[in-house]
Amino acid sequence: MSAAESTYSIDVIAGDGIGPEVMSAAVACVDALGPAFGYTVQWRIRDWGSGYYRRHGRMMPADGLDQLATGDAILLGAVGTPDIADDASLWGLLIPIRRHFDQYVNLRPVRLLPGVTSPLADAGQVDILVVRENTEGEYSEIGGRIHRGQPGEAAIQEAVFTRAGITRVSEYAIDQAVRRKGHLISATKSNGIIHTMPFWDQVVEETAAGRTGLTLEKVLIDALAARLVLNPRSVDVILASNLFGDILSDLAAAVAGSIGVAPSANLNPPRRHPSMFESVHGSAPDIAGQGLANPVGQMWAAAMMLDHLGQPAATSALTASFESALQSGTRTRDLGGTASTAQFTDAVLEQCRTVNPAAAA
Ligand code: ATP
Repeated sequence: MSAAESTYSIDVIAGDGIGPEVMSAAVACVDALGPAFGYTVQWRIRDWGSGYYRRHGRMMPADGLDQLATGDAILLGAVGTPDIADDASLWGLLIPIRRHFDQYVNLRPVRLLPGVTSPLADAGQVDILVVRENTEGEYSEIGGRIHRGQPGEAAIQEAVFTRAGITRVSEYAIDQAVRRKGHLISATKSNGIIHTMPFWDQVVEETAAGRTGLTLEKVLIDALAARLVLNPRSVDVILASNLFGDILSDLAAAVAGSIGVAPSANLNPPRRHPSMFESVHGSAPDIAGQGLANPVGQMWAAAMMLDHLGQPAATSALTASFESALQSGTRTRDLGGTASTAQFTDAVLEQCRTVNPAAAA
């Protein structure tokens, strides 16, 4: 199918709090670019999340995963409210989607955008890609508690690392590193965690062996956290396990300014199942409904989705549009500006409408 004929079915889970506010901004941008790049999107709106949980006692319908399976991708806002335990939303929606659709790569680009100030005095041009393993590792359901409430109470939590799981996420990270600067940092802790981490190191090394144009550096997670703060420009692509990647990507996003601008993709690289694209921030109940939310993270997530769908020129156009809006000084309050969500979105849409597809290609 040529790009000129493309129609995509996208499931939208806007979720809670500021989720619906940033989602409508992102959807408007994707729709605005459609005519120029020759695609249309059929949005399939799913009212899942905390409201659904209050009505039905679950975050999504029993056949929710089957419904999503027929779409081309999932665009997720933010899920969670203070009155519902975090693990209900995580294990009732996000983790089942990531695992059922084998979204084994969690990809988080981190860039210092125009007009965004890093908390670091001398951050320079931060441009980092975190590739996080997304389906196994430290976040396993294996373990338990015994002797609850007794002096001998104990908890055990197992981590699961498989050769296949480490190999496939390493292959993805290596490809990304070779496409960028040829430098891959693998986060480890093999000096302290003496079974799983040496295995991680070994399989990453074996996967990278013989790959031309690649330098692999193993860095202990504690040293890498310090390096992200002290010298973020020395870091390009990071490969990390589920837990380490979770922590490092939030740290890297903080170095790049506001949590409101950070996107994330949950990818099934072989494309056997839909992938999911989301903003990193939560539902931010403190600012929900006030028109204060920064929609850049959600717009950037939508741009990553367009890339995954085979529309790289539309991706560039969308990122260039929100970067131009930021550059021109239109910014939401979290970035020190005064623009509302709607005002900032209008500024981005204005840029989208001036896009020349030939120039963006
Ligand atoms: P969770 O616990 O699910 O991560 P949360 O909303 O409590 O959700 P964060 O998403 O980390 O936590 O957000 C922390 C704070 O940062 C919010 O309370 C809000 O003040 C601010 N924030 C987050 N996202 C945005 C955004 N898109 N625009 C503006 N401010 C934001």
